[in-house]
Amino acid sequence: MQSVAVVGGGVIGLSIALAASDAGWRVRVVDAGVADRASHVAGGMLGSLGEGIPGEETLLAMSVESVRRWPALIDRLGDPNVVTATDSLFVAGTAADLHRLDHLARFVWSKQTDARTVLTSITGRDIRALETALSTRLVGGYRAEGEWALDNRRLLTALRDTARASGVVFDDTRIGSRDALDDDQVVLAAGLGTNALWPQAQLQAAKGEVLRLRRTRSSVPPPRHVIRAAVGGRNVYLVPRADGIVVGATQYEAPVDAGDILPEAGGVLDLLADATEVMPGLRTYELVEAGAGLRPCTADGLPIIRRLDERTVVATGHGRNGIVLAPLTADEVVGLLGDPRRAPTPAAMTSGGER
Ligand SMILES: Cc1cc2nc3c(=O)[nH]c(=O)nc-3n(C[C@H](O)[C@H](O)[C@H](O)COP(=O)(O)OP(=O)(O)OC[C@H]3O[C@@H](n4cnc5c(N)ncnc54)[C@H](O)[C@@H]3O)c2cc1C
Repeated sequence: MQSVAVVGGGVIGLSIALAASDAGWRVRVVDAGVADRASHVAGGMLGSLGEGIPGEETLLAMSVESVRRWPALIDRLGDPNVVTATDSLFVAGTAADLHRLDHLARFVWSKQTDARTVLTSITGRDIRALETALSTRLVGGYRAEGEWALDNRRLLTALRDTARASGVVFDDTRIGSRDALDDDQVVLAAGLGTNALWPQAQLQAAKGEVLRLRRTRSSVPPPRHVIRAAVGGRNVYLVPRADGIVVGATQYEAPVDAGDILPEAGGVLDLLADATEVMPGLRTYELVEAGAGLRPCTADGLPIIRRLDERTVVATGHGRNGIVLAPLTADEVVGLLGDPRRAPTPAAMTSGGER
């Protein structure tokens, strides 16, 4: 049996490790720990439609394809409670916000290839009928049936446990060079840490703040849908969890080696202001955590999934969509491991440029 070392124990590395083990590889995951792991911070939305942005058609097509593969991965993990919502609402605070949502919906509709997700226009009254705790000021929006959210931390635990049960070994160390590994194959899936192991990756960091709030006995319950709101030109999302809500997320450039990744006061302030405007009852929730993470981004917004040399495959640069793209990435990497001459399939048109 051939061996592979997967460097990185975030959602990308763990998904690859499980898929490689299922494909018959002897797998070990080499991981430096949770401190700089974007997957631990994420909101967990599977936003194939919600992340559809004009100019990013390839990314949208990849996301739609990957989202299609998520139910099988959830079945493989055997923990249905990883899924915290199966539908999303896109809601607008003003007529101008609604106009912007209409524009995005028209784009997504024109590219719509995923029969599993259904997008319908809804009024302010519909919003209140679907989610009674949302503000009466919301003017309208869209319902995306089949656009899921996952509990990212429960997902990481389920991936690790399932991988371990299928024979994957975990090695909790930070490696300084891929030459330090003597496995038959090496997969670099170290998020932003990939820069240090393969400098041509040239990943940039997009910092994001996220809040975790817990329901109290006197609070209204969390919404059943993911709520993605446009409020006065700003975006905020509320993602349900079993015991509360994740509110996110800001996005701005940051140094790649940002040291301790702490949230800025202004980001926390904006998120709380926007989230309580959308759902006033959030004020009685307990603020359990204000966190921040760095999204590993490429210049063209597409992930890098390709073979570097006869022993090394790279899978990184998933930006704001790493959870969405995990199953597709894992399948592509396993294909590359099994057939070193294989080109990326059309389902995974990965980041270009001279590398
Ligand atoms: C605020 C925020 C919200 C987000 N929300 C969403 C969302 O709703 N949906 C979505 O799809 N995506 C979301 N994302 C993006 C998503 O989190 C990332 O794309 C994804 O987590 C990247 O996963 P990864 O495994 O590549 O990297 P990481 O999760 O960063 O994992 C990399 C791992 O590699 C390890 N490592 C690094 N260097 C080394 C080394 N030299 N040796 C050994 N190990 C090493 C690290 O310790 C770490 O564990 C969000 C991101 C942020 C920051």
